[in-house]
Amino acid sequence: MNFKEKYPEFFPQDKYVEISTEEGWDGLLDQLFTSLRTEKADLHVLQIKQKFGQLRFYYGVMNVSDRAHALIDLAERDSSRICEVCGEQGQRVTNKNGWIKTLCEKHAQDAGFLKM
Ligand SMILES: [Zn+2]
Repeated sequence: MNFKEKYPEFFPQDKYVEISTEEGWDGLLDQLFTSLRTEKADLHVLQIKQKFGQLRFYYGVMNVSDRAHALIDLAERDSSRICEVCGEQGQRVTNKNGWIKTLCEKHAQDAGFLKM
């Protein structure tokens, strides 16, 4: 999903913003951006990525309500139960290199990840 096009108010026009999460979290992010728009949150995204199997949503703040902060925290927590590849229910898994991701059973198996 092209979040920069859909929610341009949250992205600086003059800076490259890295979004490196996979498609399975698009629904979660879309919901988050919709809520932030409803909240009229005045923030700009710095980077969106996955770390230790969880969404990391880095942002700079101009004027953001406590509720908007809470929505971001909640999305980050919810991501650890959603497969990053397909969006189905997932759990945190690890591989032999010690990488941690959140994946459903099928995608964990496909990628050689095991339950923690
Ligand atoms: Zn999956």
